[in-house]
Amino acid sequence: MYKLRQSICDIGNRLWQMGMLPAGDGNISVRLEDNKYFITASGVSKGFLEPKQVLLIDSNGIVLDGEGTPSTEIVMHLVAYRLRGDINAVVHAHPPYATAFACTDEDLPNNLVAEGIIKVGSIPTAPFAIPSSKDTAEAAAPYFNTANAVLLKNHGAVALGRNLDEAFMRMELVEHIAKVAILSNIIDNLQKIPDEKMKELIRMAKNY
Ligand SMILES: [Zn+2]
Repeated sequence: MYKLRQSICDIGNRLWQMGMLPAGDGNISVRLEDNKYFITASGVSKGFLEPKQVLLIDSNGIVLDGEGTPSTEIVMHLVAYRLRGDINAVVHAHPPYATAFACTDEDLPNNLVAEGIIKVGSIPTAPFAIPSSKDTAEAAAPYFNTANAVLLKNHGAVALGRNLDEAFMRMELVEHIAKVAILSNIIDNLQKIPDEKMKELIRMAKNY
């Protein structure tokens, strides 16, 4: 258990170093057995997170062990677990390039980067909701059924994974795709993956 808490701290530190978690932003959770979860404490920098600030909670959000109060986005995490029996980790961050897309009417293109199609799939944008309220969960919930990553309008991104590493890598890829999309637009010669090849990649994603 201590090792997993430390892994959550390590992922928090990596995301913070990557500039995806300014101030005390973002939150990370992992599903355990018996309807219990680990979730990061609210208001602490994820760059300096300590294992005791990774809280053990039950499915009602009651803290069973650890120091601090659970992340304010706890409802969004619990809703994601309820809707998706196949996922065991949720990473919410504020990656700047992906958030830039979430501040426009442009969808993040999913036909630019092959790895993104295989490892993440479509990345829809959920409508704006006041952060740190149950409204965020309500806005994002309809997208969790079919997407492994969702942009939150004028806010940030959420990535779901079968394990912590996968959720982290999906968040990393979301930001990579957004960065590539923005840079491609600057070069002004954007070449999208042809439809035929897209079908092949989507087939590959099903077996990934
Ligand atoms: Zn947020």
